[in-house]
Amino acid sequence: MRPKLVAGNWKMNGSLAANRSLVEAVRAGFPAAAGCEVAVCVPAPYLQQVGGLVQGSAIALGAQTLSEHAAGAYTGETSAGMLADLGCRYVIVGHSERRTLFGETSAQVAAKFVAADGAGLVPIVCVGETWPEREAGTTEAVIASQLDAVFAAASASRLGLAVIAYEPVWAIGTGKTATPQQAQAVHAFIRARVAARDAAAAAAVRILYGGSVNAGNASALFACPDIDGGLVGGASLKAADFVAICMAASGRELT
Ligand code: PEP
Repeated sequence: MRPKLVAGNWKMNGSLAANRSLVEAVRAGFPAAAGCEVAVCVPAPYLQQVGGLVQGSAIALGAQTLSEHAAGAYTGETSAGMLADLGCRYVIVGHSERRTLFGETSAQVAAKFVAADGAGLVPIVCVGETWPEREAGTTEAVIASQLDAVFAAASASRLGLAVIAYEPVWAIGTGKTATPQQAQAVHAFIRARVAARDAAAAAAVRILYGGSVNAGNASALFACPDIDGGLVGGASLKAADFVAICMAASGRELT
């Protein structure tokens, strides 16, 4: 049985004051023993602050990216060791915004996966197709190639300990959500791709859906057999919505 995980991706949003009220509201709304794991992936400058705010709660700390390098002359970068030092459990790797806006290649994403895993962090590795790729019928080929880059750098057993996020690029921040059927089909494909290399890893790996998850669509998505939770952008900035999504992952409704 894979425990569900809901990870919020705050992207480049927040302030000391806003972070405090958001985390306090999520803590107040979400019972500690609610039966799903929750994480918030926050901008690097706020990791220390939010690490303090989530202490003693069921909310884990995560980062949004990392360097593939361990140390050295990489101005502006943050290493896996630094994230671990700050108490991170998770780090998002290869978010589509990193791939498209910052030119991260699949090989670089794989190197970041290895760096995160090596430092004891749990990588949340993102894969997903664009709308033209879906229209062209190449969704599975695109995702296979993104996954295979990780397999080329890390063993499938390591992937089993990580998290994969299926995030169709056309659904991120657009208000267009994949239907549960569309998402389940891709999640099953991803699990089969892992199973072809390592059956135990495929059974263990959590595969999150991301792309305009909200309080209204979360339950139907999370009811699918291969959807193990969500990677949530916009809705993670609104405490009531984020709490409702976490409750949906716990199989509970807000009263
Ligand atoms: C994301 O940033 O990973 C994401 C899925 O964003 P949104 O929920 O806003 O679509």
